Amino acid sequence: MRRVAYIATLTGCLLVGTLAGWTALGLRVDNYVYDQLTSLSKAPEKRAQGAVVVSIDEATLQAQGGMREIRPILANALDQISAAQPKVVALDLILADKGDDADDTRLEAAMRATKNLILDCELVAEKWEDPLPRFRSAAAAVGHVHPEQDRLDGVSRVISLEETGQGASGRERRWALSLEAFRLASGQEIVESPEELTVGSTAIPASRADGARPMLIRYLPDGVETISALNIRDHAAQLRGRVVFVGVTALSAARDRLVNPYGQNVPGVEVHAHAFETMARGQFLERLSNVPSVGMSIAFVAAAGLAFAFFSGWLAYAVAVLILAVAHIAPVVLFRQGFVLPYFGPAGVAWLSCAGAATYQHFFVRRQLTRAETEKARYQQAIHWAAHEMRTPLTAIQGSSEIMTNYALTPEKSKQLSEMINAESKRLAKLIQTFLNVERLAEGHMELKRDSFSAAEVVDTCMGRVTPLAERKKIRLSLDTGVEGTLVGDRELMEYALYNVLTNAVKYSPSETEIHVTAERKNGELRVAVRDQGIGMDSKELKNIFQKFYRTKKAEASGEAGTGIGLSIVEQIVTHHGGRMEVTSEPGKGSCFTMVLAANAETADRRG
Ligand code: ADP
Repeated sequence: MRRVAYIATLTGCLLVGTLAGWTALGLRVDNYVYDQLTSLSKAPEKRAQGAVVVSIDEATLQAQGGMREIRPILANALDQISAAQPKVVALDLILADKGDDADDTRLEAAMRATKNLILDCELVAEKWEDPLPRFRSAAAAVGHVHPEQDRLDGVSRVISLEETGQGASGRERRWALSLEAFRLASGQEIVESPEELTVGSTAIPASRADGARPMLIRYLPDGVETISALNIRDHAAQLRGRVVFVGVTALSAARDRLVNPYGQNVPGVEVHAHAFETMARGQFLERLSNVPSVGMSIAFVAAAGLAFAFFSGWLAYAVAVLILAVAHIAPVVLFRQGFVLPYFGPAGVAWLSCAGAATYQHFFVRRQLTRAETEKARYQQAIHWAAHEMRTPLTAIQGSSEIMTNYALTPEKSKQLSEMINAESKRLAKLIQTFLNVERLAEGHMELKRDSFSAAEVVDTCMGRVTPLAERKKIRLSLDTGVEGTLVGDRELMEYALYNVLTNAVKYSPSETEIHVTAERKNGELRVAVRDQGIGMDSKELKNIFQKFYRTKKAEASGEAGTGIGLSIVEQIVTHHGGRMEVTSEPGKGSCFTMVLAANAETADRRG
């Protein structure tokens, strides 16, 4: 049971932590950690022949007539770029609408003169917005420039390497502009597999299972080398043999500016250049699927669970610290190796399971301690009670034997005394037996005897034993009804119980009062009631009388010796016999203790 509850607690920690990792908060934290790790990781080394951005910036637009003149500006720039002999030229400019015919003709001519030219296309309402056919035919490829922003924080971390939309000939798949640039630059074809795309010897981790083959962009912290379209001629040598991305970066005109994990504001065209650089450097970051992160979470839960189950104290806490350290450091180490692991989920699970396991064990140990303490107290009380109960017969035995040794007695007197010694030792032996039985009953070590015995005999025996006590106090003890029925169980314990209730009635009643015993059999139950006219109890006291060691103030003041254990044993005996105790009482008027027991119809006498 305990083990099941412990495992349930830990499973709860696993579920809550894992689910929390998938909430918006968890994903935001994961994003934040990703950005921090990006900022902290070593900047990739500069490549001599990296990508270059030719930017149609504010200065270019101002000098050359603004966005209205974009086609002549572009044609001009292309002329200069192609003269510098770059490897690939990728245009991040939508050229879907017809412009001035002369401008379009001139631009087309510039395009045809450009080797390895890539034009861009965009998805608008699920449809491809392609460049004009005349431009399209002049280009080596068309790539999409769909910007990918995180829906939670708007940061651009990934690029979809493939997008599908409605094209001229049905649904068409387009590669990203940066991937097309990489393909043309390396002169190799793209080979697809479900998990990755391979271009030449470069395997790009971009799984189709994650959607449109997202690839994490490794942004270069210092940005991509950028040349203003105004100054191409001055930097012609820089463009030779390189991959050139051309786009509008002027704040007044650029439609796409994105924030990268460094918090930098990057124009869309540069994002493509960064994506290209990621592929060209072959330094990829790969998001690990949920399997390893959930696996890690399960390992944390198992480790925390085992640590707190098998170790105690500082050793368990040391393991917990170790688990937490692994949970926090693993994502960092893996990031360095190029793997992105969710952070919030596994770390949350680690914290929850360590706290959960520690709390559970703490409470369990405490509960055990309390139980041990109660056990000890109970045992001490039992010993106390036994010692107290044994004193009376012992005193009688001791006294009688002393008289017999010290005085010359008549044979008659001697016989009387030795009979008394015999009777008292028997009582003592019985007492010890009762004590042991009650102990074993309480510990659950004893199977109750299943003897059948007559209820009338039990009542008679007990009343016989109590009568001398009652007489001494001038209390009239009477059995007002006949007693019917057979009880099943341990006769000695049952006698002990009833005897206790009767002696209490005598103890806590003033002299010259009456005690009435009645027995009633109804619905298979025998109700043996002992009604006195004694000191009584109020309702608050009534609630406590079955607790060990409890005595009412009035009982203490009455001068009657008592330990407060008797009734607790009575209750134990009665409940072990499948019965219950009922008590009513009124202060100053008297009490009525009723033992309600299961009883069979036939009397022991009738059974013969
Ligand atoms: P003890 O008699 O040794 O004190 P018990 O367990 O038999 O211990 O009883 C617990 C307490 O219940 C008594 O101390 C007394 O306060 C109260 N009690 C029991 N029986 C009666 C009764 N017949 N009338 C009034 N009080 C009673």
